[in-house]
Amino acid sequence: MIFNFAIKNSFLCRLPHSGDLLDELNKICLEKGIAAGSISVIGAVKSARVGFYNQSEKKYEAIVFDKSLEIASCTGNISLKEGKPFAHLHITLSDRDGSVYGGHLMPGTIIFAAEAHIQSFEGEAPVRERDEGTGLPLWKTGE
Ligand code: ZN
Repeated sequence: MIFNFAIKNSFLCRLPHSGDLLDELNKICLEKGIAAGSISVIGAVKSARVGFYNQSEKKYEAIVFDKSLEIASCTGNISLKEGKPFAHLHITLSDRDGSVYGGHLMPGTIIFAAEAHIQSFEGEAPVRERDEGTGLPLWKTGE
């Protein structure tokens, strides 16, 4: 299934110090009415909480990093879940040795400083619904 979009708008956002990274991105999507789009973020966090999806148990296991880390990369997409814009992001974090950690971005990742690039797309947004095979809220294919 391929969704085809033209880019509608492009935003550069400075995210607030001590804000929750995922919450702040979802807030911008809601405020700007972005139902379909893409996101990338760079910056640094005070602490982080990411998920690893346990495929056999079909649930996320949270990993918490209680230290300052660089956002080496954070990228994702925006679509609709339960009628609201929903940002799905994965994050790569690096420490002072350059070692990297990462996973599915979860609430509880606290911003030190972060710059986001958000693109909104023109057209009907993909809609997430629970996929029985994976247990994940995936894009509805209409099949
Ligand atoms: Zn994910």
